[in-house]
Amino acid sequence: MNYPVVRNFIGGEFVESSGGHADVSSPLDGSVLSRVPLSTAAEVDKAVQCASRAFGDWSSRTIKERAQVAYRYRELLLNHIDELSQLIHEEHGKTREEGRAEIVRAIEVTEFACSLPQLVAGEVLEVSQGVECRVDRVPLGVVASIVPFNFPMMVPHWTIPIAITLGNTFVFKPSEKVPLSAVRVAELLTEAGLPPGVFNVIHGERPVVEAICDHPDIKAVTFVGSTAVAKSVYVRATAQLKRVLSLGGAKNHLIVLPDAAPEQTASNVVASMAGCAGQRCMAAASMVAVGQVDPIIEQVCAVARQLVPGETLGPVISAEAKARIEDVIAEAEQAGATVLVDGRNTVVPGREGGFYIGATVIDHVRPEMKIAQEEVFGPVLAIIRTNDVDEAIAIENASPYGNAAAVYTQNGGQARSLIERLSSGMIGVNVGVPVPVEPFGFGGWNDSRFGVGDITGKSSIEFWTQSRKTTTRWH
Ligand code: NAD
Repeated sequence: MNYPVVRNFIGGEFVESSGGHADVSSPLDGSVLSRVPLSTAAEVDKAVQCASRAFGDWSSRTIKERAQVAYRYRELLLNHIDELSQLIHEEHGKTREEGRAEIVRAIEVTEFACSLPQLVAGEVLEVSQGVECRVDRVPLGVVASIVPFNFPMMVPHWTIPIAITLGNTFVFKPSEKVPLSAVRVAELLTEAGLPPGVFNVIHGERPVVEAICDHPDIKAVTFVGSTAVAKSVYVRATAQLKRVLSLGGAKNHLIVLPDAAPEQTASNVVASMAGCAGQRCMAAASMVAVGQVDPIIEQVCAVARQLVPGETLGPVISAEAKARIEDVIAEAEQAGATVLVDGRNTVVPGREGGFYIGATVIDHVRPEMKIAQEEVFGPVLAIIRTNDVDEAIAIENASPYGNAAAVYTQNGGQARSLIERLSSGMIGVNVGVPVPVEPFGFGGWNDSRFGVGDITGKSSIEFWTQSRKTTTRWH
């Protein structure tokens, strides 16, 4: 399907960009869906000015009033879930069911935003005779969020409903690879009754991101994307004295012990590795096999072979991504690893232009190989064999990342001890995609997160507000 040329959304209106444009291609078949603006710093400034003007009125409303917009918006997301899943399927490539699942997550965070009036009720105490101290949470002003391609709806909703309901006004920079969902977000927020200027969208690439980091009137920035860019955004925006939370890439280890339940473990590991074609920061990258787990590995291969590209397995985002992932597999093979299930050279009949890679399982990967070190971001599982738990932990701990890790066992004591020794912010026990659901916050450790706190959950309230302490004495 063809979509109209994407426009920025500034001050409640869709406006043409004066910058150049790039094609938006569907990974399903390589066809061009639309064109996306590559906006300029001047356009970022325009959006910030609109957001600044809107801040006075929006922040002066009560939080209960602002939460009403979140309630209506939640209903709209629910009513449009089929249409939005289809849109995500077309622009991102993931299956409709996966698209639907990420909208359900977006709805869950929006529900958290609806509950904010209950969570931010102030604290008051008579601190000495006749003297009262009171703490209120006050919005920051204009804030911004920059997001990656892999979740066109879920990742934007980690920030938008929470920051706005807390009284901030917003500049949003979607991924230029999947800009179409952002158009619908702007339309649905408007339909929900959000006043003009509270939410603005500026499309583009690096120049837009840099202009956001540098703009003196943007008070806080969140970024989600690869570690290299996450670091540079963190450094650049904090140099401008902004509040910044910057989430980076991942390399998640699933440690499988010999006593793990074979069937459940195999299907869970494959779902973690191949869901959304492996393009998740929570995806299983390496399965660390402790001791004799060959029967589980056989089942992992059997489940992986059942996935059908073009039906139950979507494509990766671009031809470049497909070529890069296939190169990493070839390198591992050349370095001595054994490709048990090979998804290279996958072509889906009728969709020859699509960027498909079949589920791939590679055994006897060694920790020093590129495939074990770098984020692959495709439906590829690297199996690393170890003799004992200590060796497995050492491999996980050596990774510079620290988003997620999981352990598969039926021994509670063993699991407890592993949880305490893993070096990741989100841990699963027999759960391969251990995403904490609201009110628990999402956030990794080490090179997967720069800044303080989690992006969702209760710590997001701290991030998007400042506390005002008022001390009062009445005579
Ligand atoms: P990316 O870093 O290439 O892009 C992210 C955003 O930064 C996009 O909006 C893009 O336009 C912009 N950008 C790209 N290059 C830039 C540069 N040089 N300077 C400034 N801005 C730039 O990431 P991606 O490929 O879109 O997404 C995949 C990555 O995101 C993976 O590494 C994945 O692990 C990570 N991710 C992390 C989380 C998390 O919670 N930690 C969640 C989702 C995705």
